[in-house]
Amino acid sequence: MSYDPSNVFAKILRGEIPAFKIYEDAETFAFLDIMPRTTGHALVIPKSPCRNALDASPAQLTACLLTVQKVARAAMAAFGAPGVKIEQYNEPASGQTVFHLHYHVLPCWDGVPLGPPGQMGDMEKIKAHAGVLAGKLAGG
Ligand code: 5GP
Repeated sequence: MSYDPSNVFAKILRGEIPAFKIYEDAETFAFLDIMPRTTGHALVIPKSPCRNALDASPAQLTACLLTVQKVARAAMAAFGAPGVKIEQYNEPASGQTVFHLHYHVLPCWDGVPLGPPGQMGDMEKIKAHAGVLAGKLAGG
């Protein structure tokens, strides 16, 4: 399977559609999911193209995981979450729906199950959460 640059995350990277950005560095970009399965559900993507973990380069995987760790630590602190789940899907059979490599960072609370995928969130709440998380990632 090849990379299709018309995917929604490529559009976000090109600035063609908006995103609730929380962090970026030279290689990676992080933003909140608009269909959050938990408070502060974040996505981490490489700035360079690859479809998923199967065609990603060692450099893309490394850069993403370093950012995933930063975002996970910041999300736990920002939202007072005692745990965090990291998910990453490869190809449709696994549940991948956007074909640009991404890691889900999902803050978790004891006894609170993740919500279902595919349900649009409250944009004002997501914007507020993005502000809190961006502030934490910036050292706040
Ligand atoms: P996947 O199922 O491919 O691992 O996850 C794709 C994720 O992208 C889903 O959690 C979905 O809610 C999210 N998503 C889809 N379209 C958009 C969008 O336009 N903006 C943002 N921020 N997230 C999106």
